[in-house]
Amino acid sequence: MNLILMGLPGAGKGTQAEKIVEKYHIPHISTGDMFRLAIKEGTELGKKAKEFMDQGELVPDEVTIGIVRERLSKDDCQQGFLLDGFPRTIAQAEALENLLSDLGESIDYVLHVDVPEEKLVERLTGRRICPTCGTTYHVQYNPPKVAGICDKDGSELIQREDDTADTVKKRLQVNLEQTKPLLDFYNEKGYLVTFDGDQDINKVFEDIDEKLGALSR
Ligand SMILES: [Zn+2]
Repeated sequence: MNLILMGLPGAGKGTQAEKIVEKYHIPHISTGDMFRLAIKEGTELGKKAKEFMDQGELVPDEVTIGIVRERLSKDDCQQGFLLDGFPRTIAQAEALENLLSDLGESIDYVLHVDVPEEKLVERLTGRRICPTCGTTYHVQYNPPKVAGICDKDGSELIQREDDTADTVKKRLQVNLEQTKPLLDFYNEKGYLVTFDGDQDINKVFEDIDEKLGALSR
């Protein structure tokens, strides 16, 4: 079961990843985790990646892809994997195709959790945080008992700069522009499956599960 998970910020990708991993026992491989592991293990590629990161530079594709190769060759990936946050570009997607074919593998599905942009804005701008204890709330989905006030300590809740409408819209736009060519690429390959992410998270998982269940049978 070789999977890639895609979706914009706020689409609930993290929650679905947890559910997929729990049910199908494949590792959830995010780019950040992959880099951290390679650096911790002190592999040659990990050392190279660290040099770039320490200088605040982007890690070049050849290094990133090498790290993906190392990660996907590990024992825990024998039953498959769930890639999250990689690939980010067409060049990376093409390199991944080659890498998998070298390993005698291929992608089964690219799972795309789709939520309309205006819903994402609503989700992301509704976040509120308590400056005292750090508890997060959502005005709609997880509201405090008294609007604007922390349940735990009575502090006035604030909205982070990152969660204001303008910032959120810009972030989504950047992500959208990055994601669109990849979705097209995988659609043409016939891997892409799009799920309606604008429904209850359990229902979204049911839909994904139905698709994956057919694979594992
Ligand atoms: Zn608080």
